[in-house]
Amino acid sequence: MTMTAGNHSLDYVNELCATTPIGPCPDWCTLPTGHGWDSVDHDGTLWSGHQGPQFGFLSCGGQEKSDAVGTVALEAIADDLTDLDADDLRDLARDALAAAEWLEANQ
Ligand SMILES: [Zn+2]
Repeated sequence: MTMTAGNHSLDYVNELCATTPIGPCPDWCTLPTGHGWDSVDHDGTLWSGHQGPQFGFLSCGGQEKSDAVGTVALEAIADDLTDLDADDLRDLARDALAAAEWLEANQ
């Protein structure tokens, strides 16, 4: 049986990760230094997620792609946003503002 990652063989993905340079982590990345690539697209583009700060329900960070090494597209990802009460919504509004300010400050 051949192991695969998506539609690629694991050997192909491991070789691609080992031979494709990646930029240094942004100063704000909380992942271990040299964490490298963590996924591959169907077309062989590698992706690396850099983890930034957490603002309540919102996790900030960015994605770097092997076709644009050194460029990190910032984003915020929301955790589970179900069953929110009024206090949760107020917290979310405060946290969303803080996350937006962090994204703008780190562009
Ligand atoms: Zn990183």
